[in-house]
Amino acid sequence: MARLGSWIESHPEGIYVRPADAWIDPSQPKPRAWITHGHSDHARGGHGAVLATTETLAIMQCRYGPQAGQPIPYDETIRVGEVDVRFVPAGHVLGSAQIVLEHQGERVVVSGDYKRRPDPTCACFVPVPCDIFITEATFGLPVFRHPDTGGEIDRLLHRLHADPSRCVLVGAYALGKAQRIITELRARGHRDAIYFHGAVERLNQLYQQFGVDLGELRHTASATKQEMAGHVVICPPGALNDRWSRRLPDPVTAMASGWMRIRQRARQRNVELPLIISDHADWDELTMTIREIEPTEVWITHGREEALKHWCMTHQIKACELNLVGYEDEDE
Ligand SMILES: [Zn+2]
Ligand SMILES: [Zn+2]
Repeated sequence: MARLGSWIESHPEGIYVRPADAWIDPSQPKPRAWITHGHSDHARGGHGAVLATTETLAIMQCRYGPQAGQPIPYDETIRVGEVDVRFVPAGHVLGSAQIVLEHQGERVVVSGDYKRRPDPTCACFVPVPCDIFITEATFGLPVFRHPDTGGEIDRLLHRLHADPSRCVLVGAYALGKAQRIITELRARGHRDAIYFHGAVERLNQLYQQFGVDLGELRHTASATKQEMAGHVVICPPGALNDRWSRRLPDPVTAMASGWMRIRQRARQRNVELPLIISDHADWDELTMTIREIEPTEVWITHGREEALKHWCMTHQIKACELNLVGYEDEDE
């Protein structure tokens, strides 16, 4: 009998689904690409035919211009070559999906990036039982346990209210994290206008077009220092320490990322208020998900694979690492 999943090949530039002649999240331009979500380490420009959710295609169009893309709604199965393909919510960012593949009675799920805790900006992760679960492991170490999101948002609000002459400047990745911070603030009852850096504007608009309510937003370019005092300002992480922030009223520098668990990372970026808010599964979410899905095999991609592999083996699940290149943690 053939090895389980022998029709799926792992190459440095991505996962190749042979009976469909298609690549998943390839790092090089390919004639047929299936894209899990819009982050630039997964969704690149220059492919031939792209298959992705409507939201992901819209994000790709926003970043790379018109796409030769076919939108696929969640949970709809289509046949490509000899493979049945279905996109299922991954709970990572707007439009993010796991890709479920079926071929000759075997089911393989490619998780893409995912998380299990609720996120007001996207559909919740759906566990799909399968033979092979190909999982990310960005935070695949037991030290990574993300705290409750509401508690982190409360720390932000507490700091904001402590000194109304200052603003709190939050560094958050422009796709997903920025909009999530805004909606989490709204969920905690924060109704004031939130200011944003120009680099976040187009994605804010895209989220709003897809029905995500972000409340009152204002561009920092059209505001005075005084107006922004006592307000939250959102910018991409790269803008936290650049000249641009000098026009803000004495900012308290904050950053929202799973990496803020590591003090040294916060210090490197001169972050005064580290907020541990992640769009990736932490250790408990990774292991809980594998327990729930009960796959025969787990294949582990980008991240700290070793510990999760060991955990799988101690739970009688066969596990291996895939050495894919080009996946960064820029979305965190
Ligand atoms: Zn991502
Ligand atoms: Zn990723």
